[in-house]
This record gives sequence, C-alpha cells and structure tokens, in this order.
Amino acid sequence: MSIGKERIKRDIEALSTFNTTPGQGYTRFSYSEADRGARAYLMGQFDALGLSVSVDGVGNIRARLAGANRGAPAVMTGSHIDTVRHGGKYDGVVGLVCGLEVVRSFVEEGRKLIHPVEIVVFAEEEGSNFMVTMAGSKAMTGSFSVHDLKRLVNDEGVSMYETVRRFGLNPDRLAAEVIRAGELKAMIEVHIEQEQGAVLDEEKVSLGIVEAIAGIRTFSIEVEGGIQPCRRNPHAPAEEPHDGRCEDHRRAGRYRHKGGNLNNGGHDGENPL
Ligand SMILES: [Zn+2]
Repeated sequence: MSIGKERIKRDIEALSTFNTTPGQGYTRFSYSEADRGARAYLMGQFDALGLSVSVDGVGNIRARLAGANRGAPAVMTGSHIDTVRHGGKYDGVVGLVCGLEVVRSFVEEGRKLIHPVEIVVFAEEEGSNFMVTMAGSKAMTGSFSVHDLKRLVNDEGVSMYETVRRFGLNPDRLAAEVIRAGELKAMIEVHIEQEQGAVLDEEKVSLGIVEAIAGIRTFSIEVEGGIQPCRRNPHAPAEEPHDGRCEDHRRAGRYRHKGGNLNNGGHDGENPL
C-alpha cells in the first residue's frame, strides 16, 4: 500500500488555510465560511477519487468507495474538521486526512475490496456553536431529532435548526437519514487530542490505542454574588461569583482524581446587573 506522506501534509496545510483567526491558533466553526471552504476542498478530493458523496441534514459528509459485495456493511473512517476557538491544527483533521489518504491509495492501486469504505466528516463535533459536543454524530445515529436541533441555540440565540438551514442544508430530512443498524462493519478513527498528547510524549510512544473515551456531559452552572471591580477594603471577604466558580473547579478536580475523568471549564463570564 503506497501511502503518500507528502499528500497527507498537503491536505493538512490546505485545510489549515480555512481559519478565521490566523496567527492565533485555528478557528473553524461548523457552518461558518471557513467551514464552507474546507468542505469545498474535501469535496474536490472526493470527486477526484470518484467517490459517491452524500451530505445529511446537519452537514455530516459521507464519501463512499463501493465494495465488491454491494450488500456488505461499510468500514467507516474519518473525523471532524470543526475546531474550538483558537484550537489546534491537527485535532480532527489528522483522522480525516489519514482516512482520505488510505482511500486514495486503494483507488490508485485499483484494489478490489469486499466491503465499501466510507470517509465521514462529522459536523459540529466540538460543540463550539451550541455548547453540545458531537451534535453531528448524535444526529447521524438518531440520538438527536429535529426537535433537539430547534432547542439548541448559539450565543446569538439562533437555533441549530435555523443555522443549518441558513447554511443551505435541509434538517427536516434528518429522520430519514439516520444510520441504520448493520450498515457499518467498523469505525476506525485516528485522532490527536491535547488531553492525550502530553501523555504519549512523556511515555515516549508515538501511538496509543484507546480503550475507553470520556462520556461528555455539559452543565450550565450559575453562581451568584456581587462584582466589585475594586474592593474598598482588600481584607474584607469577597463575595464574587468567581470565588464560587474556583471552588466548583476544585471539587470537579477532586472528582477527576477519583474517577479518572476530566473536567473542563468552558464558557466563563460575569454579567454585572
Ligand atoms: Zn477532536
């Protein structure tokens, strides 16, 4: 199998140009113009390989290389191309580009596979718009309905349902597009995450195979208190909401050590009344 290292690099570099914060990390939210550009680049690659491509009602892309056995379940590979704000260059992109290169080499070598291979590009994986992670794959697997898309809103109060419509998608089709039981044989995803990066580096291993992943839950917590931009008496006890949040993070940290879990403080803001 002839994997083209240079082509992998080229794909990563090409996708990295679709970035709304150049010089300050990589920001490419789903349904933004940067996302549209990255999608167009990938569509061009899929077309060049003669894959049959479908895009569902929330923007998940599936590009399929047919197998010799038409009824056989597909082997899926791929990842996401959306980012957190000021995120990394490789998170998600590596998994996608590796899958693309594997399929490219199959096509190039004229390999006849029994099972179809599908490259998947999950939409809205990071939860950057609607504060709910993996919204695209949840919709693809039927965990999210159109009702859920109407319930999720971004910072501007625009629902996911309306956002995907404005992006040119048809979310009302979603129920008919849910992946069916038995449609897939396996899913293989190469992934790079900041949570794992340092561990692999410290243990001097180049690749780890995951045994479990975090079941992510997001909570919205309100801590009340008064905001004092400048305390008149620096020795007086503060009642700022910030102190409460710090305590919450400390408690979550203790929980992490017990259960081997991670906690992240995401959106954190104060609203003076
Ligand atoms: Zn990721």
